[in-house]
Amino acid sequence: MRHALLLLLLLAAPLVAALGPRARRRDFRALSDAQMAAVATLPPAEWDAVDSGHLAHLLVPRVSDTAASTQVQAYLSSVFTKLGWHEDKDRFKQQTPLGEVEFTNLIYTFDVDAPRKLVLSAHFDSKWFAQGGFIGATDSSAPCATLIDVAEALTPLLKARKERIAAGTPLLSATHDEEDAAETTLQIIFFDGEEAFHEWTDTDSVYGSRHLAEKWDAEYLPPTHDFVRRRLAPRPTVLDTVDVLVLLDLLGAPRPSITSYYRETDWMFLQLAAADDKLRAAGLVEKGLKEQWFSKYFGFAGGGIDDDHRPFLHKGVPILHLITSPFPNVWHRMADNKDALDLGVLRRWNRIMRVWTAGYLGLAADDGAAGAGAGAGAGATADPTPAPRNASPRTTTDELVRP
Ligand SMILES: [Zn+2]
Repeated sequence: MRHALLLLLLLAAPLVAALGPRARRRDFRALSDAQMAAVATLPPAEWDAVDSGHLAHLLVPRVSDTAASTQVQAYLSSVFTKLGWHEDKDRFKQQTPLGEVEFTNLIYTFDVDAPRKLVLSAHFDSKWFAQGGFIGATDSSAPCATLIDVAEALTPLLKARKERIAAGTPLLSATHDEEDAAETTLQIIFFDGEEAFHEWTDTDSVYGSRHLAEKWDAEYLPPTHDFVRRRLAPRPTVLDTVDVLVLLDLLGAPRPSITSYYRETDWMFLQLAAADDKLRAAGLVEKGLKEQWFSKYFGFAGGGIDDDHRPFLHKGVPILHLITSPFPNVWHRMADNKDALDLGVLRRWNRIMRVWTAGYLGLAADDGAAGAGAGAGAGATADPTPAPRNASPRTTTDELVRP
C-alpha cells in the first residue's frame, strides 16, 4: 500500500511539474458595481476623437525597420517611461521576402521583479504595401492605444498597492491577500513584424512574437525566483511567468464579434463578457448598448485565427485572443484609417479592458483610501470545467484569409 502510494506519487510528480505555473488556478475578483464605476472613470479622461491623443501618434504607416516605425517606438517609450514602467527592447534582424529587416518588440512591465505576469499585447507594425500609405487603424493602432489607456488608468492603483506592501500594510481584507494578488504584475507587449511582407505563411508572419517566444523559452529563471524554489523540474523559463497572454487585434470598428477560442481561458473570456454586460447595464458605455460583442458560442476546439499568439500557444502559454471575426470590412485596405474607427466603440473597449484587468489583478479604485476590503467584489474562482457551451463548426483561418 505504501509502495503503491509512493509509486503513484512518483508517477504523478512529473505531471504536477509539467502542469507547473502555466496551468495554475487563480481567483478572479470581479469588481463590485461601485468599484467598476470608479475604475471605468479613472483618469485619463475618455478620448475626445478617434485621431487625437495617443491615436494621433499611432495612426501613421509604421512598417518594420522604417523611420516612421522608429518614431512610433520612441513615442511608446516616452509614454511608458513617464509612467515609470520598466522597458525592455527585443531587437533582432531576420530575413524576410524583402531582405533582411530589423524588428523591435517593446516590452513594458510595471513591476519587473514580480514572479508572475498578466500580459496584454498587440502588434504596432503596419502592413507593407508597395505603394505605401497603409495605416491599419484597426490593425492595430487602436488596440495599441487601448493598451496605453489601461496602463495609464491602472498605474496609480498598482503604485498605491506597491507602496502599501512596502510600508508593511499589505493585507487589508479577510478575503483578499493583497500580497498574493501583487505577485502578478501587468506587462504590456507591443509586437513588431506581425504582418506578412508577401503572403501569410508560418515564416512570413509574426516575426516579433516568434522571436520573443523562442527567447523566453530558452531563458531560465534564476535560482532565486519563486517558481524555481517551488518546483524542481523542469526548470522554469521566463515563459512560465506568463499567466496568460491576451492579444488584441483588428479592433475599433463598429459591431465587433469576439469569440472564445480556448477552453483553458474560457473562464476569463466569460469574465470579459460579464464586465461588458455590467458596464452596459450601468450605462457606463454609450455605444451599442444592446450590442452583444462577446459570442455566447464557444469557438474552435483547437483552431482559431492565426496571429501573434501562435508562437506562445505552441509553447503552452494560455491565450486569450480578442479579435473580431469576421474581420472588419476595411481589413488590409487603404480604408483602414481613422474613418474606420468609432469613438464610442473605442471608449467601450477601453472601459472593458480597464475593468477586466483590474479584476484580474485584484485592483480596485477605492483601495487607496478605504482599503482593499472595502466593497470587495464577489470572488469567482477559475473553474477548469467551464459551463457547457455550444461549439461551432471547427475551422481554422489566418489573418490573410477572411473567416
Ligand atoms: Zn493585418
